[in-house]
Amino acid sequence: MRFLIRSVLHQGGLCGPDEECPDRVFRCRRCGYSAQAELDGCPACRADWKAIDVSHGPGCPKNRLEEAMDTPNGALVRRCFRILNGKSIGLTITLADITEEEFRVLELIEAERQDTRTGKC
Ligand SMILES: [Zn+2]
Ligand SMILES: [Zn+2]
Repeated sequence: MRFLIRSVLHQGGLCGPDEECPDRVFRCRRCGYSAQAELDGCPACRADWKAIDVSHGPGCPKNRLEEAMDTPNGALVRRCFRILNGKSIGLTITLADITEEEFRVLELIEAERQDTRTGKC
């Protein structure tokens, strides 16, 4: 759970452009051939480098986060961030509006934010 929250808070730093992805994948647009290593052209159909797309691979921290957000825990974390957003635009949220579970996650988020601010992270 903490990992999820931390990842969402630091989402911007997770992965940059496609080219800098730690697990980038090169794929040929013409035949679908893909490789981890940089391709100057497609070895399968001999298309040139212009046909090669680079994208975030399955091991990319961003993809991993997206996968994690699809789990029930991820949905819970997402809901809690939405609650916080609501608060920041002036909505009043009382304890009656959130579940015990959501409250716990909100506390975790708050603690995590504090850690970030004090540089403990
Ligand atoms: Zn990536
Ligand atoms: Zn190809």
